[in-house]
Amino acid sequence: MVEVQVCTISPLGHPIPHNVINTVHEDNLHKLVWWSGGVMGRADSTYPHPDRWTIRNSPGRLPLDKIGVREITCALKHLRDVEPSCIKNWEDRIGRALPWRAIGENLAYGIGTNKDTSSWFKNILHRGLWLRGSSDSTERCRVCNSACETWAHLWQCPVWEPMWRNFVEITNELLPHMNRDPPAQYCAEFVFLGAMRDEHTLPRSLSLLHSLMWKFQIQDMYQRSQCEYYVINPTKTNTRALRRLMTRIHAHVRAAQIKRNLVEQRGGTITLRGINKRILPIARIGSEGVEWEENMRRWLTAAGAIDGEEGPATATEE
Ligand SMILES: [Zn+2]
Repeated sequence: MVEVQVCTISPLGHPIPHNVINTVHEDNLHKLVWWSGGVMGRADSTYPHPDRWTIRNSPGRLPLDKIGVREITCALKHLRDVEPSCIKNWEDRIGRALPWRAIGENLAYGIGTNKDTSSWFKNILHRGLWLRGSSDSTERCRVCNSACETWAHLWQCPVWEPMWRNFVEITNELLPHMNRDPPAQYCAEFVFLGAMRDEHTLPRSLSLLHSLMWKFQIQDMYQRSQCEYYVINPTKTNTRALRRLMTRIHAHVRAAQIKRNLVEQRGGTITLRGINKRILPIARIGSEGVEWEENMRRWLTAAGAIDGEEGPATATEE
């Protein structure tokens, strides 16, 4: 048996001793957890123990009960320094800083739905696509069978190369050139991420097309991995992406027209700058509906997309 002094606990947890001594059996003694001079509770039923935990990035790694506003501010400031691992992985591979904010905005404020962009987002941006030629394997590309299937090969796989080169070409026809340099180049950062010269990225409309091309390319790659006789025709893959793009643009324009009619019925006027900003430079909203930019119309027609798009055809004829 041991003698113990009876205490009550102040509102701040500090023990206030009283002139009462009790005797208790050792088995009934328990360790206490202390927080800054006060009692938190019994050690076996209290969480967290301040001397075993601290806050990440707090200076001096002080125990929890010694952490104040200064340490918390410092920890929160450093929170923003930590980059998602996909950003670091990409920059290590590409060898330069990439315009992540613009890439993210194209996704967050883009004209596609989740169904359109999630395949590119998960498989490419987050590098979730499973490639057979990892570091310890030399399995050949399931599409061209001519090189090891790696990220370094994927963007320049000869089967898909004409499709991506064609996309580079049309992008350069549609976008203004800075100092006579074409904004888009056939390179890994453009094919994978839509990153162009001088921190530029694709405008919203072409960014959606870029995601859609990846979506349908990945679908084809998956089909081929399921069946080696599956025939890949990149021209058709491209046409599927273009048709889906047209469907999305028509949907945006229809929504804008409905809104315009509603506003005009109430005697108001509405500017179409918002919708045009999203669908330029490939199309604009005219009096009859969607008006495709001339180069884009030629491309859509050549790809056979303009006659067989997913939605009702409302494209105007000149
Ligand atoms: Zn290949």
